[in-house]
Amino acid sequence: MPYDIAIIGGGINGAACADHLSRSGFRVVVLEQYHQAGLATSSRSSKLIHGGLRYLETAQFRLVFESLQQRKYLLKHYPDLVKLLPFHIPVYTHSYRSSLMIRLGLSIYSLFSFKLFKTIKKSNWSQLDTLKTRGLKTVFQYYDAQTNDSLLTQKVMQQAQNNGTHLLTDACFISAECHEDRCEIKYHRQDKIHDLSSRIIINASGPWVNHILHNITPAQSQIDIELIAGTHIIVPGKLDQGMYYLEAPQDKRAVFVMPWKSQTGEDQILIGTTESLFTNLPEKVVPTENEIEYLRQVYNHYFSAPISRNEVIDAFAGLRVLPASNDSAFNRSRDTIIHHNNTKKPKVFSIYGGKLTAHRITAQQMSKMITPHM
Ligand SMILES: Cc1cc2nc3c(=O)[nH]c(=O)nc-3n(C[C@H](O)[C@H](O)[C@H](O)COP(=O)(O)OP(=O)(O)OC[C@H]3O[C@@H](n4cnc5c(N)ncnc54)[C@H](O)[C@@H]3O)c2cc1C
Repeated sequence: MPYDIAIIGGGINGAACADHLSRSGFRVVVLEQYHQAGLATSSRSSKLIHGGLRYLETAQFRLVFESLQQRKYLLKHYPDLVKLLPFHIPVYTHSYRSSLMIRLGLSIYSLFSFKLFKTIKKSNWSQLDTLKTRGLKTVFQYYDAQTNDSLLTQKVMQQAQNNGTHLLTDACFISAECHEDRCEIKYHRQDKIHDLSSRIIINASGPWVNHILHNITPAQSQIDIELIAGTHIIVPGKLDQGMYYLEAPQDKRAVFVMPWKSQTGEDQILIGTTESLFTNLPEKVVPTENEIEYLRQVYNHYFSAPISRNEVIDAFAGLRVLPASNDSAFNRSRDTIIHHNNTKKPKVFSIYGGKLTAHRITAQQMSKMITPHM
């Protein structure tokens, strides 16, 4: 059957585009190489639905504002999957970011989100999940949201399927040949090579984005990118008071320490993330010993019940797609870029980067860009 739109990739962005476009009446097919949606980057994030308080430091005001609007929407529409939690920012005598700077950031964040922040009384510091209090000057508390990224992606994909999207799992895109009116796509599934035809291709393959473009004719222009690996670790324990937003003593980066539940419902602690340049194939990304050690050290620096290497239950790594630049990964924009060949009738639209939180905005922007070409 000829489709209007073929989406390569069943991560959060592919799922959101499929949902939005099938709702608009287009015939949509999604090719996902793994056995279900949301198993790549969209299962390896920090699982936060947030405006990104720290993006205020790099003046990404629009991104923060839009993400906070999305947080509001997702809290309302996915109450079982997106939950508001208290976040704590402790400020010590040795902290790089001063109380004044954090107060300023939180004031802007509160204005954008209509949610107030406060400081925790000194007499209540002892209730903060074994947080060390030596040298502690202030603890700020504000609210942000947490989700299960993989389940959220599967939910959005399920909605897309309910709206008519045809999801093909275990279906690996091989190549496409685009003509004036259609693209002929080849994909691999169940030991066979199959064909399908669609008017437009959405390349939502996350860290594989340029790899997919290499296999489309005529040759497609690309954005020069870097893949930045981010690791999280899971350790045993229970955080009763919510999240902790900490400054890594090693390099002053922000690291989150978050409550988490195992698949069997056991309380655990999720710690992340790191940022290091990754130059191998996306499917090869794994946590390194250095990254695990870095996160363990951050935790042990702030909490008085130390975690040993043997206690780390699990670790996972994902890849951010960031535009290549000399700037540090930490400071680079987290905005989504939708790229296409600058022709009158582009056939291929590629999604670079972005945030889990902003998936609906990405889908809306995609819809605006492709509708005139349909
Ligand atoms: C460490 C880390 C922490 C993050 N934390 C947050 C956070 O807390 N909050 C937030 O909002 N955002 C966060 N993000 C960003 C967010 O996770 C990503 O922006 C988002 O998950 C990207 O989704 P995607 O659909 O573009 O990519 P992916 O989820 O990677 O999906 C791409 C899909 O394409 C498929 N694919 C690739 N090649 C082929 C092929 N040949 N054929 C068929 N299918 C193919 C893959 O299997 C995959 O399922 C984080 C990112 C990282 C790396």
